[in-house]
Amino acid sequence: MDGRQDRNGRGEKPDAAGAAHPRTIAARALGWIDETTRAVVPPIHVATTFVRDADNQFRSGFHYGRCDNASARHAEAVLCALEGGGETLCFGSGMAAAAALLLSLEAGDHVIAPRVMYWSLRSWMASELPRRGMSVDFVDMSETANIAAALRPGKTRLVWAETPANPLWSLVDIEQAARIAHGAGALLAVDSTVATPLLTRPLDLGADIVMHSASKYLNGHSDVLAGVLTTARKDQFWEKTTAQRTALGAVLGGFEAALLVRGLRTLALRMDAACANARAIAEHFDGHPLVKEVLYPGLASHPQHDLAKRQMCGGFPAMLSIRVAGGERQAIASAAQVRVWTRATSLGGVESLIEHRASVEGPDSPVPGDLLRLSAGVEHAGDLIGDLEQALQKGHAGAG
Ligand SMILES: *Cc1c(COP(=O)(O)O)cnc(C)c1O
Repeated sequence: MDGRQDRNGRGEKPDAAGAAHPRTIAARALGWIDETTRAVVPPIHVATTFVRDADNQFRSGFHYGRCDNASARHAEAVLCALEGGGETLCFGSGMAAAAALLLSLEAGDHVIAPRVMYWSLRSWMASELPRRGMSVDFVDMSETANIAAALRPGKTRLVWAETPANPLWSLVDIEQAARIAHGAGALLAVDSTVATPLLTRPLDLGADIVMHSASKYLNGHSDVLAGVLTTARKDQFWEKTTAQRTALGAVLGGFEAALLVRGLRTLALRMDAACANARAIAEHFDGHPLVKEVLYPGLASHPQHDLAKRQMCGGFPAMLSIRVAGGERQAIASAAQVRVWTRATSLGGVESLIEHRASVEGPDSPVPGDLLRLSAGVEHAGDLIGDLEQALQKGHAGAG
């Protein structure tokens, strides 16, 4: 018996594979129901252990909750269909997903990662990979030539990309990065948290593995920690990653998985609203006297605007950053004045969040001190713009 064989296909009569648009896949959560009750929402599975068959088998595909649970499999099936992947695994957080993947590498392996990327993961890579005999180089991946230059033939096993990348929102050309990685026998993994499967499908562009922090847009309500890995194909490396999840107990719990599926059902609506808000905010503050620069690939003046148009399925992210003309003190003073925006870390929820990133990342951070990261939520655009406007004015007047 191999429970993994049908991890993303088993269960309650999924909608016909391949027939549906991503918006339909998400809204219907593949149409899974509970066969016993005919409930249109499958039950939340909480069991940690499962009955062994009389002949000693586990034909259900489940034997212990640290390995897997049926609620996680529902979320995995939906996400696998959205990514067009071979198999998906859900984890207890985005960090757990990334760590499980990286811990599947061997001592001696070399990793190339972005200079500007999700800060906690960058710190973890820099401290933990060398402790395990691996090496990592951080390069500016907005120019894919820098990836090629960092390759160590025979040693580079993984190129880790993030696009759009936190918190400058530079892009990585996934097609080019995949070609470069594959030419050297390395895998390409893409942290696609900010794009979501609705705006970018990295596997279609040649990536081998796509990762998400589902704590962000996929769940979308700032009330679930979850992570996702989807592989283009099930190979030996993927088997190791699966084994890591089991060994570490990093699987997503049933309650969180059910909440994640509920969040996924409105992913398209939330993304539509948040992306439209981000665009309106970017356009309003582009050229504003109190703003030095708006970092947002949806602006025609952005150096990677054409790549964004090509790679992001005709949309642009719901994230942007502004650099406050008055510098770091005014940036912090402005963030202190918001009333509609919430001053908090994280992103991808229905509520708009603002954060001074350099304060979070510390002295080694490549992020400028004058930068405020904005996660656009789904509120009224006029309220968000008006609030930022008054906060910048007050920050300007107060911090001098
Ligand atoms: C939040 C985030 C992560 C980490 O995910 P957690 O769910 O917080 O562990 C990784 N990458 C990006 C781009 C993120 O925004």
